[in-house]
Amino acid sequence: MTTSEPDCLFCKIVAGEVPAEIVREGGSTVAFRDINPQAPTHVLVIPRDHYPDAGAAGRAGVGIMDEIAREAHEVAEAEGIAASGYRLVFNTGPGAGQTVFHVHGHVLGGRGLEWPPG
Ligand code: AMP
Ligand code: ZN
Repeated sequence: MTTSEPDCLFCKIVAGEVPAEIVREGGSTVAFRDINPQAPTHVLVIPRDHYPDAGAAGRAGVGIMDEIAREAHEVAEAEGIAASGYRLVFNTGPGAGQTVFHVHGHVLGGRGLEWPPG
């Protein structure tokens, strides 16, 4: 069963109603370039189904967080950043900077990624 929210930007990208530079499609996920990249590689990996955040997706218990992590690594390998290292980020909640409430993993790499972030 596919779930979507009519007013959700990322559901619209999944449906092809909003354009995006898609770099990889899995059976249950889509990966596309962030419109406002924070690193040379900045790709978002999202489930086709709508979950508002990582907590909700994890609690659903259907393996979607596993799938996002797996797809993120495939993206990192394709982008040539898997060996050097990349960051997989899930901003969760408005206080953490989440602005789109359809869970997405940010795959960031291609430059030095200091920790903690500056
Ligand atoms: P977050 O702040 O963690 O919710 O991340 C949302 C991300 O979505 C931001 O990095 C935005 O730049 C990105 N974004 C917003 N609209 C689009 C879009 N139409 N296509 C691609 N990325 C987008
Ligand atoms: Zn959605």
